[in-house]
Amino acid sequence: MRRGLSPLRERHETGRFSTGLVVLVDSFGEIAVGAALGVVLGLLDPLREGSLVLVLVLGLLAALREVTVGAAFGVVLGLLDPLSEVALVLALFVLHASSVLSPWPPHEPEGLVASLETEVLVIGGGSTGAGVVRDAAMRGLKTVLVERKDLAEGTTGRFHGLLHSGGRYAVKDPEAAKECIEENLILRRTAADCIEDTGGLFVSTPWDDPAFGDTFVEGCRATGVPVEEISVAEALQREPRLHPGISRAFTVPDASIDAWKLVWGCARSAQEHGAEILIYHRVVRLERSDGRVSGALVRDELTGGELRIHADVVVNAAGAWAGQIAELAGCRVNVLPGKGIMIAMNHRLVNTVINRCKVPADGDILVPIRTVSVIGTTDTRVADPDDLEITEAEVQEMLDEGEKLVPGFREARALRAWAGARPLFAPEEVADTRDVSRSHALIDHRERDGVEGLVTITGGKTTTFRLMAEVAVDAACEQLGVDRPCRTAEEPLPGSEGGEFYTLGSRVRAREPVPRLQEIICECELITRERLEGAMEWRHTPNLDDIRRTLRLGMGPCQGGFCIYRATGILHSVERLDHLAANESLLSFLQERWKGVHPILYGDQMRQARLDDWIFQGLLGVQRLPT
Ligand SMILES: Cc1cc2nc3c(=O)[nH]c(=O)nc-3n(C[C@H](O)[C@H](O)[C@H](O)COP(=O)(O)OP(=O)(O)OC[C@H]3O[C@@H](n4cnc5c(N)ncnc54)[C@H](O)[C@@H]3O)c2cc1C
Repeated sequence: MRRGLSPLRERHETGRFSTGLVVLVDSFGEIAVGAALGVVLGLLDPLREGSLVLVLVLGLLAALREVTVGAAFGVVLGLLDPLSEVALVLALFVLHASSVLSPWPPHEPEGLVASLETEVLVIGGGSTGAGVVRDAAMRGLKTVLVERKDLAEGTTGRFHGLLHSGGRYAVKDPEAAKECIEENLILRRTAADCIEDTGGLFVSTPWDDPAFGDTFVEGCRATGVPVEEISVAEALQREPRLHPGISRAFTVPDASIDAWKLVWGCARSAQEHGAEILIYHRVVRLERSDGRVSGALVRDELTGGELRIHADVVVNAAGAWAGQIAELAGCRVNVLPGKGIMIAMNHRLVNTVINRCKVPADGDILVPIRTVSVIGTTDTRVADPDDLEITEAEVQEMLDEGEKLVPGFREARALRAWAGARPLFAPEEVADTRDVSRSHALIDHRERDGVEGLVTITGGKTTTFRLMAEVAVDAACEQLGVDRPCRTAEEPLPGSEGGEFYTLGSRVRAREPVPRLQEIICECELITRERLEGAMEWRHTPNLDDIRRTLRLGMGPCQGGFCIYRATGILHSVERLDHLAANESLLSFLQERWKGVHPILYGDQMRQARLDDWIFQGLLGVQRLPT
């Protein structure tokens, strides 16, 4: 099956690299086979003219150009009669060499061995890696980022969506609280287009000790988090669905943040500064020479090709996988994956981020994001960040906790559930992952392990990604022996230059004149055909889930039930996929959505799932589609 490439990957394949791609094609075998063929043709005297014509015809077949070169060479040898024996010996030698060096028939570009030179190699395309690649590129360093899947497909695309004020950590984790509020204020200036300024409330429900409110205020004051107590009446006026039994309420500058916009904004900015971003490229080995890390071997997950990247410094920004990457260099980094689950509810049950005013625990935050609200989260240590099962008990716990914040929560429609793995850095063993600081960790492996050329940045929050990138690039600069200041605290991301936050209505407002004139493909998220086609051309991918992350396609109440077969048809024509590839794309999207829906199958969403099932299984018979 042909796999399309994103524009980022296309830049790689066409070799328009500022970092200087050197492609070494193993074509010797094809030349050798051609030479042998040519010798035979040349030796057959009566066919001299015929063989020359044949060589010319072969020359027109670009796919066989190596064979053609060899054949031309062989014909010339064969035509020189006095040298026929020499030519024959040469042909035999060449044939032997070809059988040793190259398979026949010639292999597909899968065997392509490519290499790339750069100053900084960033591993991981979540918020941290995206921040690092942008920061390094803005400091004028040649930089390449590799991500094994799509950008923000790791924890960053599976988080709770909260731009922390620091209030949550003010009592238990003051260092993290200070980092959060400082970065919150910076991101409001530099990444406004990714933020909805919802504000935040900490409320004492009937299940919480009202006296904790005083400890909370003290913690906020000590860490610089702006806090103000408001009356219960005012809180209920602002958020009428809140539990009427709340006894205290405090305002803080929490907000909601769109991680996909943030990460793609960083990536676009990094590219504008000359960086290369290679998605679907997995690091399989770190290269080491003379006790230092000198780059990585990466595998293209779509073609199977390999790419060797030589780098002066490697920044390991692989989040919950950072321990696995460090291990490839023989270094130990104790990152504990802390699983958290979240459930998106159909409406904005609240318009402000609501936190329980107590020591952080499970299911105590409700975040309004776009048209939905998300309850979360849990914190369970897991062995493998790629294996995050959602249990029935966890779902029930979230719904119960939701009831304590908004009575009637259970009657609202749950759209989907998902889980992410926190990258929790623990210098020593801990019993409970909630006890691990949410502050970030920078490990300079030259200082700690005597391994030059490798820096690990992990822990932290999406809220503090910019700061994490700054300290990581500072450390990389130190290893490179250069001193260049960071500019990301001042220079806004592309799209945020105007300093305007997005609002709930902004997408409708931007599209309001359109509906009468244009076909709407995804009604829930108001995605027009024009926008969908534009995104498909831009991402140049056969994967509908990549398009989902770009446009929010299929993320509304029907979870793709009405839009995804239409989108598949459009993808089929835009990407010129064959029917097998288009079918596979549809099925893998449905499978991915199903993973999120099946843990919350009750009430209206159960009815929706039944309807979707009738459409896809009953009407379209997707289970019988050839792939
Ligand atoms: C349930 C939950 C809720 C959260 N809520 C919030 C919140 O509301 N606000 C907030 O600020 N923070 C929140 N966080 C924390 C925040 O999401 C994370 O700290 C942050 O997303 C980590 O970003 P990262 O870039 O370090 O890791 P990731 O986003 O996981 O990125 C690491 C990337 O490395 C890639 N990778 C791994 N191995 C390889 C390899 N071999 N080769 C190439 N690439 C590789 C992965 O595919 C991944 O994309 C939450 C976390 C969880 C789990």
